[in-house]
Amino acid sequence: MDIRVIGGGLAGVEAAYQIAQRGRKVTLYEMRPHTFTPAHRTPFLSELVCSNSLKSKELSNAHGVLKEEMRLLGSIIVKTAEETAIPGGKALVVDRQRFSRIITDKIEAHPLIQISREEVTQIPPDGIVIIATGPLTSDGLADTLRVLTGSSNFYFFDAISPIIDGETIDRGKAFFGARYQDESDDYLNCPLTRDEYERFYEALITAERVQLREFEKTPYFEGCLPIEIMAERGRQTLLYGPMKPVGLMDSTTGAKPYAVIQLRREDTFGTMYNMVGFQTKLTYTEQERIFKLIPALRNAVFLRYGSIHRNTYINSPAVLTRDLRLSGNERVFLAGQITGVEGYIESTAMGLLAGVSVCASLEGHTFAPPPEDTCIGALLNYITTENKHFQPMNVNFGLLKGYNKKHKDIVVKNALSTISAWKDNVDSALPIGVTGGLVWIQK
Ligand SMILES: Cc1cc2nc3c(=O)[nH]c(=O)nc-3n(C[C@H](O)[C@H](O)[C@H](O)COP(=O)(O)OP(=O)(O)OC[C@H]3O[C@@H](n4cnc5c(N)ncnc54)[C@H](O)[C@@H]3O)c2cc1C
Repeated sequence: MDIRVIGGGLAGVEAAYQIAQRGRKVTLYEMRPHTFTPAHRTPFLSELVCSNSLKSKELSNAHGVLKEEMRLLGSIIVKTAEETAIPGGKALVVDRQRFSRIITDKIEAHPLIQISREEVTQIPPDGIVIIATGPLTSDGLADTLRVLTGSSNFYFFDAISPIIDGETIDRGKAFFGARYQDESDDYLNCPLTRDEYERFYEALITAERVQLREFEKTPYFEGCLPIEIMAERGRQTLLYGPMKPVGLMDSTTGAKPYAVIQLRREDTFGTMYNMVGFQTKLTYTEQERIFKLIPALRNAVFLRYGSIHRNTYINSPAVLTRDLRLSGNERVFLAGQITGVEGYIESTAMGLLAGVSVCASLEGHTFAPPPEDTCIGALLNYITTENKHFQPMNVNFGLLKGYNKKHKDIVVKNALSTISAWKDNVDSALPIGVTGGLVWIQK
């Protein structure tokens, strides 16, 4: 059966490589250099469109652990990043040109991978297809995907609010409660007095913002305006929007607050909270400074910062099964940022899993996802678990099943040994025909 991977970015390359390493022929479609996305500049595979940092190498950080898991899983992206690393302190920083050139050389030299430089706009009529066309998927294919997933499950724009570590919220200065009677008390409300609101407002409207790139200058949807743009419309605007106090009584003081920021649980255990309606284009440093003016968030640790940018992604919990297959369509798998993960290595990770999942399916095995106490398994779990407020997600420890900050060392050790065991199982079911780097040996 033909296997086609569409998109030669980070996820597509990883998926194609994992499949080829397990002895199957695969065609990788990449539209560059004939057609470019608004951010890519070169003809090379796996081009890094922005930063040349693949984030932390430290095992005290979820980004570091995810990379280590990927290294253990035999990721070509992580291996090549290590080969092309340049000094970057605690982060894995690469020489971007060498990185994508070497990836391109390795993929071109792989005997089981054929590269086809063309834009794909329709799902091929037969065979297995992995769609890994990323946040800037070309318009033609985006239209096809919108029809395939249903327009309410397909997004072009990503407006995300910050996520806070639940343990760092000052519970003495916040209270649980819902605005409306028919809502459960799931919201954690952070009240502000008039003076606190005024200070917050002044800081917000004068804060530094991230400059939009030309292609990002899409007019904002009214439904997801950045809070600083909303604030520009008037001193009181936020009080009728995301900071409205209507229906809330502060149980810590018995008074009606002047303004309120609502935090919504991101996970069952309440280890992470989302700042409702706080999508923003403020710089990360300014988000830290300004949101900490909210009394309950004075010591908050941000697990993810807010942002707004062009991003093609699907509502994965509604349309993807746990083996990264499109529900109701046996032949089509998705990988990379389009599945609703965010970040270079997160996207690569979903490429690796899609590759393994395709091989499992072709060998007649049921794909057993990596356990949820690993970073990669937790990410997969996040994008495939029902979620009314699904938004793209970076890897963070709060996603890991049973994560306990006090025992981080144990959690990390467990994640790495679990992933090694998972890899052993995968390799015994789907053996890799490789010795010495990229030489595939015909069995
Ligand atoms: C402007 C921008 C900056 C970003 N900066 C960062 C950052 O600094 N750090 C970070 O961790 N993450 C960043 N991201 C987020 C994300 O992690 C990266 O975009 C990452 O490259 C996603 O990997 P991917 O493989 O899913 O998509 P990509 O790496 O974008 O790969 C998709 C590939 O598919 C090709 N393609 C698209 N449509 C078609 C088609 N119809 N037919 C054939 N080929 C097609 C594209 O040319 C591209 O090569 C950024 C995203 C954007 C948009």
